[in-house]
Amino acid sequence: MTHQRTAMDEVLAQGLLEREQQHLYRRRRTLQSPQTPDMTVDGRSYLGFCSNDYLGLANHPQLIDAAQQATAAFGTGSGASHLVCGHSSEHHALEEELAAFTGRERALVFSSGYMANLGTINALVGKGDAVFEDKLNHASLLDGGLLSGARFQRFLHNDLASLEKKLVSTDAARKLIVVDSVFSMDGDLAPLPELAQLATKHGAWLMADDAHGFGCLGATGAGSAEHFGLSQSELPILMGTLGKAAGSYGAFVAGSHELIETLIQHARPYIYTTAIPPSVAASSRAALLVMRNEGWRREHLQVLIARFRQGAQQLGLQLMSSATAIQPIVIGSAEVTMAVAEKLRQQGILIGAIRPPTVPEGSARLRITLSAAHTEAHIDQLLGALASCSELLPANRGAPL
Ligand SMILES: *Cc1c(COP(=O)(O)O)cnc(C)c1O
Repeated sequence: MTHQRTAMDEVLAQGLLEREQQHLYRRRRTLQSPQTPDMTVDGRSYLGFCSNDYLGLANHPQLIDAAQQATAAFGTGSGASHLVCGHSSEHHALEEELAAFTGRERALVFSSGYMANLGTINALVGKGDAVFEDKLNHASLLDGGLLSGARFQRFLHNDLASLEKKLVSTDAARKLIVVDSVFSMDGDLAPLPELAQLATKHGAWLMADDAHGFGCLGATGAGSAEHFGLSQSELPILMGTLGKAAGSYGAFVAGSHELIETLIQHARPYIYTTAIPPSVAASSRAALLVMRNEGWRREHLQVLIARFRQGAQQLGLQLMSSATAIQPIVIGSAEVTMAVAEKLRQQGILIGAIRPPTVPEGSARLRITLSAAHTEAHIDQLLGALASCSELLPANRGAPL
């Protein structure tokens, strides 16, 4: 059936054309297999380095089994929001297990990380307050800060002096410092212990988004707080997601009893949305067990990261100072980045091409992500493909690895 173009469609078409001309047009590919390194996309099989499934849990038999059993017991949909009648015993048990896992008093499960960030920032600050955010924070944190009505201040990336200058010059009632603990497009870590000290010194509250640290960092996989040994009083607002290393879906905020009760009262994206299906909560619970019992996944991931960095260095490629599973190669131009991603795709390798506004103007990049599900042979295959594009990639300027 064909539909007639309306005046609205004409206006929208102009905007789409401009985006296309700037090489910023987004297109989706259709995945026809589980989220594993060997993925079938649009009818063709690829070796993928674009997933956030850092531990290889998204297709783990224990997570699948947990979801199937919970579906049989609870049905498919949660049916309502948490405050009406959608808060099942699976959700509740997950919250208790997350609190124990992260070493916090309590935890609250949100339906997504985006919603957790929007809800938490808005429940904690508003008019008359101030929120301080790292320039490279994830869009959900920036959106949360902007929406809150608090004075929105961005400080230079991982720059404590830049933050402190802003902290001393504010007269806001509540001061909230918000950072990614692992920056999603760069892979580097925030200096959380120093940020915690600054927060204490200036009477500010510290929130860390551990979307890319949870499951990967820390001796048991409890994330950045465990990695840095930060207690609840040092890092009072810990947010993590369950759709990345945990191989499931959803998110959580962990902290004090008072924090969690405040979120239940005031976090609108918590209150006004349907709870995730109980089966999804059950998969997350299984993920916590696997994270604890299969520590080899974190160790293997570290081996792969080291192998990739060493190989890329031998190829003379410019890497970022990232010790995590996120290993970007910054190219600069959106057009060249797209061309390289396409050239790699033709060789059967799928890598995300990340362009503005997701990253700053002029810093388009390949966002290579590694997973415990990869093998060393996969890394070598990736390096071989990158070697074939090396004339389009930035050369190592001798930055320390
Ligand atoms: C992915 C991500 C989110 C959003 O989490 P979802 O559960 O996918 O909505 C939030 N913060 C960071 C840093 C992320 O990378």
